[in-house]
Amino acid sequence: MGRSSYKKMSKTHRIAVLPGDGIGTEIVAEAIKVLHALKLPLQLDTAPVGGAAYELHGHPLPPATLALAKQADAVLFGAVGDWKYDKLDRPLRPEQAILGLRRELGLFANFRPAICYPQLVGASSLKPELIAGLDILIIRELTGDIYFGQPRGRRTAVDGHFPGAPEAFDTMRYSRPEVERIAHVAFQAARKRSKRVTSVDKANVLETFQFWKDIVTEVGQQYPDVELDHMYVDNAAMQLVKAPKKFDVLVTGNMFGDILSDEAAMLTGSIGMLPSASLNASNQGLYEPSHGSAPDIAGKGIANPLATILSAAMMLRFSLNLPEAADRIEAAVQTVLAQGLRTADIYSEGSTRVGTAQMGDAVVAALA
Ligand code: NAD
Repeated sequence: MGRSSYKKMSKTHRIAVLPGDGIGTEIVAEAIKVLHALKLPLQLDTAPVGGAAYELHGHPLPPATLALAKQADAVLFGAVGDWKYDKLDRPLRPEQAILGLRRELGLFANFRPAICYPQLVGASSLKPELIAGLDILIIRELTGDIYFGQPRGRRTAVDGHFPGAPEAFDTMRYSRPEVERIAHVAFQAARKRSKRVTSVDKANVLETFQFWKDIVTEVGQQYPDVELDHMYVDNAAMQLVKAPKKFDVLVTGNMFGDILSDEAAMLTGSIGMLPSASLNASNQGLYEPSHGSAPDIAGKGIANPLATILSAAMMLRFSLNLPEAADRIEAAVQTVLAQGLRTADIYSEGSTRVGTAQMGDAVVAALA
């Protein structure tokens, strides 16, 4: 073996671990257990984020945490937020840490797979025949759209509301490069799946989304092997509950993606099962469960750690190029589900109820 290939194999990957608040610390601990069990060359460095960082350093994303994230190959993130921070000025609220990390790391593509595991078909509110075998990927653009347009209005400095204001508005905008790069991401992801992309827009009403549709169509010409169709967002919302399996890769803008990815998440029954990845142009990524910090169950040891463990698997696949290790984690998760182990959120009669740490231990055992 040549020296350089040996060096490549033994490269130590740096991971910034940001557990955050609420159940964040509990679920991230289980993902770390699983990563340690794989005995990979990983260097894990932990830093506070969100409310935890505000308590320690007066800011949800302190400079040292941001620096650690920037230097890392990937960020493993738990969750942030607690109702007790609702009265803080917006820039100091825990959730601002996520927006700051997205902006500073240039994370523009959010991947949210919605997979229905055969053992959990009963957990969905949809009929089993609609949901069994579901495996779709929602790709949401993260840096443009109405969330980053110009907000206008006269808020009061005191409580952030608009008493008596005649109007308020936010502008929706996308630039050509922003749409082109997310379209490429979607077509490339589809090539690794069943080669179908549905681009979701509102081109019948919004100029921004006619522009989006035109550009996705143009980019699609570079991927003649991938089938592209377009759907209005209202119809997509309906089709996701009527016939979700007809989708494969669904790509859309920031706001529609925010809403549709939560809808798709609930198709599978538990938000505690759903991982996500946010990637930048050099495949550096932030990996986190799709759910929040669940203050209602924090500290009770009952949170489902599987979404975070599956996010760690996505991290190994997308940012660290360790697909076999990712496969092993995903297979281990299937094994524990087949063994009938369930945290409270996915519990059904006849299965075995386990806590957060027991679930993590079971995944570690299943890796062997
Ligand atoms: P949430 O996702 O935290 O919780 C919604 C419901 O799902 C709760 O009943 C919770 O107990 C349950 N739940 C969530 N994750 C679970 C898990 N792993 N296992 C079992 N049950 C689980 O959403 P919320 O209650 O609307 O928000 C709580 C806090 O989280 C807020 O401060 C919010 O701003 C924040 N939040 C953070 C993120 C993030 O960090 N990316 C995302 C969403 C919400």
